[in-house]
Amino acid sequence: MALNIILLGPPGAGKGTQASRLVEDAGMVQLSTGDMLRAAVKAGTPVGLQAKAVMEAGELVSDEIVNALIDETLDRLSPDQGVIFDGYPRTAGQAASLDGLLGRHGRKLDHVIELDVDEDALVDRISGRFSCARCSTPYHDRYNQPEVAGVCDLCGSTEFKRRPDDNAETVRTRLAEYRAKTAPILPIYEARGLVRHVDGMAPIEKVGAAIDALLER
Ligand SMILES: [Zn+2]
Repeated sequence: MALNIILLGPPGAGKGTQASRLVEDAGMVQLSTGDMLRAAVKAGTPVGLQAKAVMEAGELVSDEIVNALIDETLDRLSPDQGVIFDGYPRTAGQAASLDGLLGRHGRKLDHVIELDVDEDALVDRISGRFSCARCSTPYHDRYNQPEVAGVCDLCGSTEFKRRPDDNAETVRTRLAEYRAKTAPILPIYEARGLVRHVDGMAPIEKVGAAIDALLER
């Protein structure tokens, strides 16, 4: 029986990495509404054409269109393909629609997996990052400085770069946005006993193993 999961996690928790791994290793399909929308528009499906018209008019794509899009996408999957929902649902209404859509395809939601982070530790981890401008070797202000200050260990370059969004304020803002986005749906799934927590601060392999254990792979 194919598993259907929602994967949640704030920026920096490694959600993308884990989703890619489940796609590659477990043959699951990652459904993000943005990707589905672009694909449907490109393929010129009935829903894609409808969405294109709405977007060209500068309007937001309605829940009806998003639901039709998911319906259309689920139609194309084989019954043994598991699904990872990414960035959907966002509202209580969408959560209710998802149950109906899954049910119509003989599926049900099995798990809502949230990658938890320690926000202060995450800010600390991200805000000190920098890298060699020539060879991209990663460094960190506090945890991983070059052996000789200002000189790359690997290539000897003295030029370094920092991503402008790797600063404490931006990280805090993104975490707050994540909390606001998940606030409408987490309590719904918590009440149904579907939410599983995985420590997103652990090393990537450990996070992966914890997810696999939940999925009993
Ligand atoms: Zn270098």
